[in-house]
Amino acid sequence: MIKDNIAAVRERIDAAAKRAGRDPEEIKLIAVSKTMPVEMLKEAYEAGQRDFGENRVQELVPKMEELPADIRWHLIGQLQKNKVKYISGRTELIHSVDSIGLAQFIDKEAKKRGVVSDILFEVNIAGEESKSGFKPEDVLDAAEQISALDGVRIRGLMTVAPLVENAEDNRIYFRNLKHLYIDMQNKNMDNSMVDTLSMGMSGDFEVAVEEGATMVRVGTAIFGKRSYEIT
Ligand SMILES: *Cc1c(COP(=O)(O)O)cnc(C)c1O
Repeated sequence: MIKDNIAAVRERIDAAAKRAGRDPEEIKLIAVSKTMPVEMLKEAYEAGQRDFGENRVQELVPKMEELPADIRWHLIGQLQKNKVKYISGRTELIHSVDSIGLAQFIDKEAKKRGVVSDILFEVNIAGEESKSGFKPEDVLDAAEQISALDGVRIRGLMTVAPLVENAEDNRIYFRNLKHLYIDMQNKNMDNSMVDTLSMGMSGDFEVAVEEGATMVRVGTAIFGKRSYEIT
């Protein structure tokens, strides 16, 4: 049952937090519902889950329209500029800002609507060829430029760590992202409130929590295996 899965994941988050001497309440669980039918999201909603992650705008928008208005939607997948208008003002947080150009576009759409969009920068922390995201060494300069935009508010960093058998192999990447996050906080930039570090998925969220994640994005461990994968 989805309800039991959520409770089990939550317990594992709390235990990992305690191991690291952290307050479990600092960590928010995002239920990643991509490819899952709305019935399954409703089941999670009934269990009290309110934060959901989707990675495609064309899937997110119909789900938004069908499900209760108090759900907080997180866009976690690559966002094309021409799709920003469909979600502007409607997401809790966009986790996947991977270029200055995209941030400028989000800013422009937000201003049209008189809103401010909360964003994270996606960082390609392991330097994987196949992944999008800022290079770690480019993040602080990009943040400097994006902090000039008052239609967006910089909330922190996100990463998708490598797919590994042993979650411990990702510890170093989570640790490195945490360091970058602290550097970002110390910059005290305009239009920013750097309080969110989004890292950890079904295979590695406990290690991510031990290394400082404030949000984990968990799909499979809640909803089961996806029947197809989307990128
Ligand atoms: C699919 C996805 C997740 C969840 O992955 P699981 O391994 O199923 O927990 C988390 N983050 C992003 C960006 C994703 O695309």
